[in-house]
Amino acid sequence: MPYVFHPGIPSIPVAGGSERFPVHRIYCVGRNYAAHAREMGGNPTREAPFFFAKPPDAVVAPGESATYPPCTKNLHHEVELVVAIGREGRAISAQQALSTVWGYAVGNDLTRRDLTLEARDKGRPWEFGKSFDESAPISPLHPVSAVGHPSKGAIWLKVNGVDRQRADLAQMIWSVGEIISELSRYFTLIPGDVIFTGTPQGVGSLLPGDLVEAGIEGLDTLVHRIAPPR
Ligand code: MN
Repeated sequence: MPYVFHPGIPSIPVAGGSERFPVHRIYCVGRNYAAHAREMGGNPTREAPFFFAKPPDAVVAPGESATYPPCTKNLHHEVELVVAIGREGRAISAQQALSTVWGYAVGNDLTRRDLTLEARDKGRPWEFGKSFDESAPISPLHPVSAVGHPSKGAIWLKVNGVDRQRADLAQMIWSVGEIISELSRYFTLIPGDVIFTGTPQGVGSLLPGDLVEAGIEGLDTLVHRIAPPR
């Protein structure tokens, strides 16, 4: 049965080859570094992680610019370790969870901060602040077979060559295994699912024309520009 038009499949390139990883869903952890929880005025203790989502077509391929989105005066960067799921699972134990991981990448959870703060204050959903077009730049994906499971090492982000965020993966409140375990209680994880695991402190504003460079030790450097609004 033909489609009335051809649906595109959002995807991420796999490092060092021509294959692409098709994106099914994008989940994000809300608060996973104590210092960032504090700078957002939240609770830095180990309460259960919370999640939100972005649409799969929010991914911005390596080398592409992310367009400055409409309806905001405060676009923020958030560098994060990104986990790509390669095996179906539900209610997975933290001990078993890493066996579902296909690979890892560096991502920027772009955020309309004025809109997430307004949503928080009015008790509204986060979609307008988090789930907009081109809100998920992601580096090439590195398979577990090549990089293992990164649990420590530098995570950083620069804007126009100036340090903005710099921390260590070991400072994550919830580990990758614990995040997958918790998320899989609520949703069946499917090959193609992608999880942003939270950002460290130092989030800040971006403007059209800015050059963003973000990296994680042992993985990759994500480089993208912020393009002028449409
Ligand atoms: Mn985030």
